[in-house]
Amino acid sequence: MAEPINLDHNATTPCLPGVIEAMAPWFGHAANPASPHQIGRKARQALEDARDRIAGRLGAWPDEVVFTSGATESNQSALLGLAPILPGRAPPTLLVSKLEHPSVATPVELLAARGAQVLPLAVNPQGEFETDQWPRLPEGPLLLIAHLAHHGTGAIQPVAELVQRMMELAPGLGRSHTDATQAVGKIRVNFHKLGVDTLAASAHKFNGPAGIGLLLIRRAKPWAPQTVGGGQELGRRGGTPSVALAVGMACALDLAHEQMAIRQAHCLELRQALLNRLWSACGPLEVIGPAEGRGLAHTVLARFTGVKAGLAVMGLDLEGVAASTGSACASGSQRPLPGLELLVADEAHRREVVRLSLGHEQTIADMEEAADRIGRVVCRLRGDRQ
Ligand code: PMP
Repeated sequence: MAEPINLDHNATTPCLPGVIEAMAPWFGHAANPASPHQIGRKARQALEDARDRIAGRLGAWPDEVVFTSGATESNQSALLGLAPILPGRAPPTLLVSKLEHPSVATPVELLAARGAQVLPLAVNPQGEFETDQWPRLPEGPLLLIAHLAHHGTGAIQPVAELVQRMMELAPGLGRSHTDATQAVGKIRVNFHKLGVDTLAASAHKFNGPAGIGLLLIRRAKPWAPQTVGGGQELGRRGGTPSVALAVGMACALDLAHEQMAIRQAHCLELRQALLNRLWSACGPLEVIGPAEGRGLAHTVLARFTGVKAGLAVMGLDLEGVAASTGSACASGSQRPLPGLELLVADEAHRREVVRLSLGHEQTIADMEEAADRIGRVVCRLRGDRQ
């Protein structure tokens, strides 16, 4: 069978050899960074060095960086930790769209079940947040929840403008969280400039190791810890942190930033090569999401007309192309992209949407070969002559 081509990088990315090398010595270092002895202090130093580097890359203070197990934990801790301490006595209003990843949508449901009111953030047909169309806000505390880059469409969102607008509309009453999992390491992210209270990300989305993520929490802003017990991470996340994984995350983020312009330009070329070849191999196809240049360079949300996405993804797997129907990070699931109805009105059309996400380590030849394989599967499913 042909070597599989990975067009599912938004699910996870390969951990780079340089990152594995940087982590290796720390897997064998038997010391807890909280231990006061010499080898403990050495581990602590490595952990704090990783924290400093990550903070520097993301425009945060080192003491605003909390190491977590990944973005799912970060999103959940951020939202459940922000909601109970919102100013005012009334239950909070959550401003959030249906486009959020399940790791955000599920805690939102939990908060709604506890009495929070949920109001939608307006989204345009390209999946971008509208900054000037706000629902009527009730009096009382607000929590704005908005991803920074979308895992399906690749839309890069105007989070700083949304936060600014919220502060004008509800001075002193608003808090905000951004899920930056698909943005960190791909585009420049500056925590303080975004103005949010909390930010979530996962190392494995930017060529770091799986099993570690980060939660940025704004200094001096109230937030209630969700994992308590050991007092680690300045009391904000109990449990022994992994020095090796933290070192790996810092190394991956450094590499991503050092190579960002080159990677972005290369991904744009790859994307163009993929789309050109797809058009000739199996047009017509519709690209759903932001206009050219407004989204993540490596993400294409495509509708292959007349082809069921679930069948396409299975057929592509057999043909040697890894793709997804949208948000399928859960084991083996191929759930449709949450909120797709906001972008694609026709229900039958929504079932034809496939997410293709490429990686900077790939080549034009990979894209052309992938497009040819996709063309074969799509034509077969359409019943076209090949
Ligand atoms: N948010 C977004 C936008 C994601 O794409 C993902 C991963 N698919 C997550 C959160 C959760 O990340 P993790 O599985 O690493 O916890």
